[in-house]
Amino acid sequence: MRSRMARLDRRQVLAGFGLLGVGRVLPGCGSDDDATGDGEGGEASCALTPAQTEGPFFFDTGFMRSDIRDGKPGVDLALSLRVVDGETCAPLPGALVEVWHADADGAYSAFDVSQGNSADAAGQTFLRGFQTTDSAGLVQFRTVYPGWYPGRTPHVHLMVLLADRSALLTTQLYFPESVTDAVYALAPYAGRGPRSTTNAQDGVGVPGALLGQFTEDAGAYATTFRLVVPPRS
Ligand code: FE
Repeated sequence: MRSRMARLDRRQVLAGFGLLGVGRVLPGCGSDDDATGDGEGGEASCALTPAQTEGPFFFDTGFMRSDIRDGKPGVDLALSLRVVDGETCAPLPGALVEVWHADADGAYSAFDVSQGNSADAAGQTFLRGFQTTDSAGLVQFRTVYPGWYPGRTPHVHLMVLLADRSALLTTQLYFPESVTDAVYALAPYAGRGPRSTTNAQDGVGVPGALLGQFTEDAGAYATTFRLVVPPRS
């Protein structure tokens, strides 16, 4: 009863924003299609989330953790990821969701410059971790907004795996240009100067289905992003 009330309250709040035209929900699509985030709306698409390359900087830390910052500075980013089974369109509990991304300076942990990284960070484990989805298919991470590195627009790498570590989906999450512009105007991002690559110029490509929808509150950003994964084979 209590959670139903909370949901109704939130719907009203969101409707209020729409009515007033207050731009708190920032542009972008591919986010949780059910704008209330409760996963019970009837219009959520179960089209499979597009897969993308794993890239060269995956490293298995084995760290099950929600807060992956490891003390790294940056604008707060809350990532809620909802895993949905593409066959049944139901939440998928018990799946592993692994995330990894670059720090504000565009460097990954665990790799050196000789391996193509933007800084020497071998032996470090920042901005990596995994969580297990709950009964609603949800995991939540607390991190910082990723920095850019040459040839890539800011992105977060994602992998959904079964408990036996077989991968269901490997992909990347992207940010609307307006959000990146706002964040990159702030420290510690601003000191690096203009980024090399926008979403349109990205070397991998940014399909609309991988563009998150973000809310901003007191300088922190949040998204709830749905990952619709292929059925287990
Ligand atoms: Fe990357």
